[in-house]
Amino acid sequence: MSTVMSVEQACAAAKEVAQWYADTDLPTRAGLLEAIADAMDAARDDLVPIAVDESRLGVDRLTGEVGRTTGQLRLMAQVVREGAYLGVVLDTALPEATPPRPDLRRMRVPLGPVAVFAASNFPFAFSTLGGDTASALAAGCPVVVKPNPGHPRLSDAVMAIAQEALRAAGAPDGVLTMVSHELQDGIDLVNDDRIEAVAFTGSQRGGLALARLAADRPRPIPFFGELGSVNPIFVTPEAAADRGASIAEGWVGSFTLGAGQFCTKPGLLIAPRDEAIRAAAVAAVGGVAGQGMLTSAIRDAFLRGVGERTDISSVEVLHEGGWDADTDTVRATLFAVPADVVLADPRLLEECFGPMSLLVEYDDPQQMLALADVLPGLLAAGVQGQENDAIVGDLMPKLVAHAGRVLWNGWPTGVAVTWSMQHGGPFPATTAPATTSVGAAAVDRFVRPVTWQGMPQSVLPPALRDGNPWGVPRRVDGLMELS
Ligand code: NAP
Repeated sequence: MSTVMSVEQACAAAKEVAQWYADTDLPTRAGLLEAIADAMDAARDDLVPIAVDESRLGVDRLTGEVGRTTGQLRLMAQVVREGAYLGVVLDTALPEATPPRPDLRRMRVPLGPVAVFAASNFPFAFSTLGGDTASALAAGCPVVVKPNPGHPRLSDAVMAIAQEALRAAGAPDGVLTMVSHELQDGIDLVNDDRIEAVAFTGSQRGGLALARLAADRPRPIPFFGELGSVNPIFVTPEAAADRGASIAEGWVGSFTLGAGQFCTKPGLLIAPRDEAIRAAAVAAVGGVAGQGMLTSAIRDAFLRGVGERTDISSVEVLHEGGWDADTDTVRATLFAVPADVVLADPRLLEECFGPMSLLVEYDDPQQMLALADVLPGLLAAGVQGQENDAIVGDLMPKLVAHAGRVLWNGWPTGVAVTWSMQHGGPFPATTAPATTSVGAAAVDRFVRPVTWQGMPQSVLPPALRDGNPWGVPRRVDGLMELS
């Protein structure tokens, strides 16, 4: 039986259980997340073949992604059990003060039903049961998923497993529901007054259209869009001289991974003009086999992006890729372009999803600083260098000004799911730069603070009562108490 509901059914069900779910104690809610994770792990071998068939990503990658997905759910369970995310702060009454201070107690409460737009490029980890769903459920918000049209059978199978696990663990229907993958269902969902926030991963165009809808509602709601990023890596002259060829190989490995279908793909390598770097990069790209892309629309957008760059006269094609119609696979494309051309043409700083990247060549290291100044908002940016390289001190603050994550001698593609991860950044990386969609802090998007003033103990939520019955970390009269 299909798990798909109409928007009306899904929103009504989510609204009906929202208070019950918001009131669940922390161990109960954590237990629900773990129950879903256990069920997903148990079903892994049934789910992976469906994902392979629909996404054309490999068995190993997708098997690993199930582990990432259940790891995210379990990290969120830890976040919930610990309770620090509630941000509890207590100021005891000071009746003798002038003016008298009332008893004030603040904590964060769930927003209510959240709409999650599943991504195409991580059929498990950013999709139906991905990081957005896990963090909204952790916050105490029912979730209505708009599945990605790229993998409908997998979305249905994953949703069935999660719903059954929730039911078996005692949760009412409505905590997690799904509408169809039709465009109109997504629009209706964002416009539905019962939805309190939206999380989205996908294109800039789609994300902005939906963000506008969320803002134009009679009662606007928060929209958390993770859109796209060009993720530049800057190579210092010293690092290029020392290990230019191995940097070039690392870069090719990173931008061709998963057919370049990562929002963290390094789309620019900014390096000194150097034949060794060129030669190593061309050789490495030549060794990358053709890969299938997620959907024909994503493939066509990629080929269009490659064509647009090829048409710019000062852009040199170092390695021509293209599309093999017989196998429906694409081969990686490598461009080189002088730094001053990029400075004059902001189109070259735009993301192109898929296996291609630009080698931006500078003659003077100062051009790196000029480029860093004109960068758009980024999920990640990095330096390949040595600690005492002259440019590093001036370059790093500029990267911090534009990116949510800055890397040293690494590649941005992998995004660890941890307590300290920041996966966000200024527009166009996201529509909400103060937030992250990966890691423990992802839960913060779906809660809002409330202060209780002069409230009797019996009316307060347990986390705010005297004696700290939930044992959560709290700040009391300015001092942190761990429990
Ligand atoms: P997409 O086209 O933005 O679609 C994502 C979701 O949003 C789908 O469910 C889509 O539904 C919906 N949607 C898009 N535009 C909409 C609109 N105007 N109104 C209502 N719903 C809308 O993303 P995609 O198909 O996954 O990939 C396309 C491009 O997105 C890629 O080429 C890449 O540039 C970018 N992308 C970025 C990331 C990232 O991590 N930031 C991940 C994946 C993709 P319909 O399909 O029914 O329109």
